[in-house]
Amino acid sequence: MPELPEVETTVRGLAEVLDGAILSSVVPRRADLRRPIPVDLGQRLTGARVTELWRRAKYGLIGTHRGDTLIFHLGMSGRWRIDPGEIGKHDHLVMTTEAGRTLALNDPRRFGSLDLIATDALPVYPAFMALGPEPLGAEFTAEYLADILSGKAAPIKAALLDQRTVAGLGNIYVCEALHIAGIDPRSPAGSISRPRLTALVAAIRQVLEDAIRAGGSTLRDYARPDGELGYFSKQWRVYGREGQACPACQGPIRRRVDSGRSTFDCPSCQKR
Ligand SMILES: [Zn+2]
Repeated sequence: MPELPEVETTVRGLAEVLDGAILSSVVPRRADLRRPIPVDLGQRLTGARVTELWRRAKYGLIGTHRGDTLIFHLGMSGRWRIDPGEIGKHDHLVMTTEAGRTLALNDPRRFGSLDLIATDALPVYPAFMALGPEPLGAEFTAEYLADILSGKAAPIKAALLDQRTVAGLGNIYVCEALHIAGIDPRSPAGSISRPRLTALVAAIRQVLEDAIRAGGSTLRDYARPDGELGYFSKQWRVYGREGQACPACQGPIRRRVDSGRSTFDCPSCQKR
């Protein structure tokens, strides 16, 4: 499943092709993904100039000079293909630019989504209304975390996965960041000291930035005909490494399952 860093590198890859481009055709090839695709999406985007590309949580946004923004979510299996040799049955949206480039949104499982809304209405887009700050943004600080977690008895891991606390963090990155910060995932969120919250904010930024850098090098490989954007592999410290050596203390990494999700941590390095 694409996580925040994959969406970020996807948006950067799309920007190489789309920033400033005029869309000569935009064609949805089915009526829905997880939700219906707006019926006028192709018409409103065709002929428009792309003015801006950015990311919010795990959504990619493409703004045009007409005051519309295309919002895409990659779901479980979505990816953009740049200049695909031929259009396949899982390519659900195909865009061409005046410069002769083609982009196809490919999503075999169709858990992704496509919306087109007025850029002015973004603050009231339902998926964005309850989102916390961006983890790589200036608002996400130890002071902010101390404030929002104050008095909360929920485990810190659950609090960080709650999108109202911080936007776009998934299970992998939360496990990795808690390991770097030396915090037991079960620690009550409101009990963590300010210095440890400072370490946690730094660790969250580090794991995301490392992953974006890893995807960045892949992107250069992918930014070519028949390339794809959206996925890369990364060596994790604890995630998916049950029983293997902790990179810090060499002790065995532990896996626990809670509400259907796996938590990986190091019992020696991570304390309440
Ligand atoms: Zn350890």
